[in-house]
Amino acid sequence: MNEEYFERAKLVIPGGVNSPVRSFRSVGGTPYFVDRAEGPYVWDSDGQRYIDYVMSYGPGIVGHSHPQIIDAVQQSSGNGATYGAPTLGEVEIAEEICSRVEGVEMIRLVSSGTEATMTAIRLARGVTGRDKIVKFSGHYHGHADSLLAAGGSGVANQGISGSVGVPTSAVADTIVTPWNEIPDLDDSTAALILEPLPANMGVVPPKENFLQDLRIACDAHGVLLIFDEVITGFRLAMGGASQWFGVQPDIWCFGKVIGGGLPMGAYGGSREIMRHVAPLGDVYQAGTLSGNPIATAAGLAQLRLLNVDAYEKLEKTAERLSDGLSNIFQSTGIDVVVPRVGSLLSIFFTNQNPSNFDEALAAAENGIYADFFHSMLKRGVALAPGPYEALFLSLAHTDEIIDQTLEIAREAAEELT
Ligand SMILES: *Cc1c(COP(=O)(O)O)cnc(C)c1O
Repeated sequence: MNEEYFERAKLVIPGGVNSPVRSFRSVGGTPYFVDRAEGPYVWDSDGQRYIDYVMSYGPGIVGHSHPQIIDAVQQSSGNGATYGAPTLGEVEIAEEICSRVEGVEMIRLVSSGTEATMTAIRLARGVTGRDKIVKFSGHYHGHADSLLAAGGSGVANQGISGSVGVPTSAVADTIVTPWNEIPDLDDSTAALILEPLPANMGVVPPKENFLQDLRIACDAHGVLLIFDEVITGFRLAMGGASQWFGVQPDIWCFGKVIGGGLPMGAYGGSREIMRHVAPLGDVYQAGTLSGNPIATAAGLAQLRLLNVDAYEKLEKTAERLSDGLSNIFQSTGIDVVVPRVGSLLSIFFTNQNPSNFDEALAAAENGIYADFFHSMLKRGVALAPGPYEALFLSLAHTDEIIDQTLEIAREAAEELT
């Protein structure tokens, strides 16, 4: 059925997909169409089961179809889908987020990560009265015009550094600078935006004390520091990357995990920063479906499943997977590195951890990932169909599931040699 569905899809949806990362463009072949998912598994339209390491690129941190999330969605949807008036659910999830992330005193809910980063930039410009923004190459911040320069994830997969249709004027105030080098900031810069743990060019961690040094550099010039925690938020730790690395930005962006699988994003910060947002202040941002009651119910149910024990378990699972993969490739003589921070990891078929976007691109050039991807897929393990994505784990990925994955990876690695 996958082939048939894909043929139909291509007639009515560009490339047959609603987000380019889902296309098999960089690995070749036909995408599997998902029929249903449960725990660590997805089933495609042919009934083939896969152990899933895509997990919707991050939202699925407790496993697919978790009964408590299904229950929350069912209960909420019975009360109507959206009203255009505030609900208690919005207050509850805002309180939950503020209590988890030290430094976040107020939060505004939006409907995607893209909206969160786009608005964070507007807010930073509004607060500082400055226009220039600085981003790191290989960091992906969604698809808003001003942030679409030298992005990771699907932008990198497609081999385009940005997009046609973005006027020069829209990126005229965007400075792109290499990751892991302190950028030149000055008093005309509104914000420095980054993924505190980049996970859209593979996982390319910050060097020792790099985030601390960025904080100092920003403070020296009155530049607002924006952490795009759309992946790391509520995944790396209870308080996300800012807790993990011990550095607080001025503005946080969230997405993925906070929606429990439904569309939701958020941006937040201190009261002093957030008082600039309309209707309190002059930075305008709105949304018909912002704080959607079903999404807030799903998000809150998911957050409540994520306690300290859950994060410990996720990290142990990730360690088992990354160590296992490293050992397998070592024994088959294939060069591979599996960088991991907390529960986030990725695979590069090279002998040294990349430390910036150029090195990550060079590491993926050999095309080995595509062969490995297909070797795994045909044996029932779904990785992301592109070399720059992280592997996403969930609480449903038990040690047994990891060991099954490693057995399959051993066969796939032997096939590669
Ligand atoms: C996914 C992602 C975004 C964009 O979020 P969407 O919900 O896809 O719009 C922004 N920043 C980072 C770091 C992401 O991983």
